[in-house]
Amino acid sequence: MTVRVRFAPSPTGMFHVGGARSALQNWIFAKQQGGVFVLRIEDTDAARNKPEWTEGILSALDWIGIERGSYEGPHFQSSYADEHRAAARRLHDSGRAYYCDCTREAVQARTGNQYTGYDGYCRDRGLPPGEGRALRFRTPDEGSTVVVDLIRGEPTFENKLIEDFVIARGDGSPVFLLANVVDDMTMGITHVIRAEEHLPNTPKQQLLWDALGVKPPIWAHVPVVVNEKRQKLSKRRDKVALEAYRDEGYLADAMRNYLMLLGWAPSGDREIVPWSVIEDEFRLDEVNPSPAFFDEKKLRAFNGEYIRALPVEEFVAACQPWLTGTGTIAPPPWQPTEFDPAVFAAVAPLAQTRIAVLSEIVPNVDFLFVASPLIDEAAWAKAMKEGSAELLDATIAAFEAVTSWDADTLKATLEAVGAERGLKLGKAQAPVRVAVTGRTVGLPLFESLEVLGSERTLARLRAARVRLF
Ligand code: GLU
Repeated sequence: MTVRVRFAPSPTGMFHVGGARSALQNWIFAKQQGGVFVLRIEDTDAARNKPEWTEGILSALDWIGIERGSYEGPHFQSSYADEHRAAARRLHDSGRAYYCDCTREAVQARTGNQYTGYDGYCRDRGLPPGEGRALRFRTPDEGSTVVVDLIRGEPTFENKLIEDFVIARGDGSPVFLLANVVDDMTMGITHVIRAEEHLPNTPKQQLLWDALGVKPPIWAHVPVVVNEKRQKLSKRRDKVALEAYRDEGYLADAMRNYLMLLGWAPSGDREIVPWSVIEDEFRLDEVNPSPAFFDEKKLRAFNGEYIRALPVEEFVAACQPWLTGTGTIAPPPWQPTEFDPAVFAAVAPLAQTRIAVLSEIVPNVDFLFVASPLIDEAAWAKAMKEGSAELLDATIAAFEAVTSWDADTLKATLEAVGAERGLKLGKAQAPVRVAVTGRTVGLPLFESLEVLGSERTLARLRAARVRLF
């Protein structure tokens, strides 16, 4: 039997990092088993049916390495409406489902104030289909449903505690629970690897598989992803969109490595490992069922390590979207004509060791490409102290006199200027750095001045000096 797994996102306008994690786990499992990965877009909610959202899913998958053309699909749930309705009809015709015209209020009135589930009122009324009548599944009164789950063992659910749940609404449209099962059946899915949030649906879905006479899949409910307060990651509260991480300059390799560590680890106490090792070592049945902490700080540190490990030419290439502003990435503060690739190449190795996400390249190098530095006023206020004007005067005079404009000479020169005033180099550097780059932190100062050149450096020092009058 060929293993067939699927990733079945509902289009929501963004790609949740938890979804990306499930997609990767499905992807690797299929690969390890010589199986097939199917992409199904669960687009039956008409309000959620925008083509650009599907495109967003495809491009996010592409980005993390699940490339178009290398999997089956995308299939669209909305194209299987006939199959969904046929299954609902079969369940009704075989007596496994019945029509019900109870309103929630009526059930509530019969069972007490709280709605705790359906009370089975219409089970044996034999109502024919009709406008406003929901179709309910007749759950068995006895026995239990055992879910075979590669991660969670065999969670067991007592059937008598499962209410007669709705499988098609009053307007005849099948609900998610049924559509999802019918699609898995139609697509020959053998293993359902999905988020833990769906576990409460699973016994109901398994009952549907049984009632439709098909052997249910093997399940694997991967752990919920939580924030530092152990709350489920939510798009209102947390940064969950894969696209947001991509646009900030996380590397796809770092991201997918990190995502695979949510609930699992490679052998030998390692965390940063080549993708081939993960593909080789990952075992679905070793995934820890407890909630997995999505640690943004750790991801950031991870990304920094991945950035530092790039050959410098690859780093330069990876920075391009932020240097030019493409697609959803904002344009940089300089004009395209002001940008000089050779100048960028000269400072790239200095930047590579200092940034954790690629978007940080822009504030580190913008001073080289803009006509005058973008002064951060808070940094200016912090760096410009009493005596800064005199220090700048002396620095300008000393820099004008240097015979060789290189980092070592400039450093020795400023060191001497500072020493005359009883200032350590760090203190003497601060006003010079703000005057030239606009910031208090950034690339090593003297290398920056060397690349910027004497003319522009001196012009900026003079402009800052004027401002201090
Ligand atoms: N469409 C569902 C979701 O986005 C997935 C259902 C499943 O994986 O079975 O949560």
